[in-house]
Amino acid sequence: MSNPSLLILPGDGIGPEVMAEVSKVIDWFGAKRDLNFDVSEDLVGGCAYDKHGAPLHDDTMAKAQEVDAVLLGAVGGPKYDDLDFSVKPERGLLRLRKEMDLFANLRPAQCFDALADFSSLKKDVVAGLDIMIVRELTSGVYFGEPRGIFEEGNERVGINTQRYTESEIDRVARAAFELAMKRNRKLCSMEKANVMESGILWREVVTEVGKDYPDVELSHMYADAGAMQLTRWPKQFDVIVTDNLFGDLLSDLAAMLTGSLGMLPSASLGAPMENGRPKALYEPVHGSAPDIAGQGKANPIACILSFAMALRYSFGAGEEAARLEQAVNAVLADGLRTADLLGEEGVKPVSTTEMGDAIVAKLEESL
Ligand code: NAD
Repeated sequence: MSNPSLLILPGDGIGPEVMAEVSKVIDWFGAKRDLNFDVSEDLVGGCAYDKHGAPLHDDTMAKAQEVDAVLLGAVGGPKYDDLDFSVKPERGLLRLRKEMDLFANLRPAQCFDALADFSSLKKDVVAGLDIMIVRELTSGVYFGEPRGIFEEGNERVGINTQRYTESEIDRVARAAFELAMKRNRKLCSMEKANVMESGILWREVVTEVGKDYPDVELSHMYADAGAMQLTRWPKQFDVIVTDNLFGDLLSDLAAMLTGSLGMLPSASLGAPMENGRPKALYEPVHGSAPDIAGQGKANPIACILSFAMALRYSFGAGEEAARLEQAVNAVLADGLRTADLLGEEGVKPVSTTEMGDAIVAKLEESL
């Protein structure tokens, strides 16, 4: 059987720096765990624009559609700020998400023990936290028509439309139930059914889908109450599923419970391909961090944890994903910190490369 295929798109700014550390991890799994990938690499974002005059070449798009998973670093930078909207680096990323039809965005909020002091919340509220937010990514108010700014009488009116079809809700709900089945079998669906018809439909469809998953304990919460509960006692949740707009806000809120942007991975999943694997794009939540690019200061952990998500959700290697997450936990427990994680006085930051090497060393120790 051929190896699973992985397309790596390092992108701009710190993207290539953090991706170089992921490549060490990928090589380790090949050499020591017999987990080999057919890896290809290509351009996305500003670097693609520099070469092709577009932030994503058609050939790269075609490749992304064929592979088992795409792993992306970050795109963008001040050099490209004045480009026309249609060729801005971010358009490359948006094209990938759109054409791969990645409707389920998975954002874990996991608190590593050694970083519990980093949260703005009390340590006992976040220590051991491990929740997953599933955000619908391809529909809702960011895409609904009509939209625009119109003249109405003697003033202007700005319009956006929240629109969800039953099938759009059904597929993201199923993705969330499937995840809950692999975790602690608890799913909380968040909407505003008290004031929005789309919320009423959301609740009805999620409830209906839930009948196919009797082992999952389903609850519903209004999204505003959900925001309060997330800050009050986040550990009450396991998986949360919500729409595009509420998911945008709630996933950022949940992410910050756990500390630095340099620690946050994500996955965007689409429909299953012929081989049963979902279309998938894995990427850190952070951007290209031009303020620290090229200085060896970037934290590679968000990108490394994104690869751990790929192991778990695309390659059926949950145990190896846990091994990698354990290695990250272990280096943090040893006190290693990149500059973004510094809080304690007297701690000297390690570089991007040193952090990557330390994680590989912990993987080695795990054998
Ligand atoms: P950013 O995430 O790049 O950086 C925000 C802050 O966090 C910066 O101070 C940065 O130094 C720090 N930071 C981010 N990642 C870090 C890491 N791994 N290690 C250590 N520190 C880290 O967001 P921004 O500054 O708003 O945007 C910079 C560029 O990135 C812009 O061009 C923006 O459009 C782009 N962007 C891209 C993505 C993406 O590729 N998915 C996401 C957000 C922003």
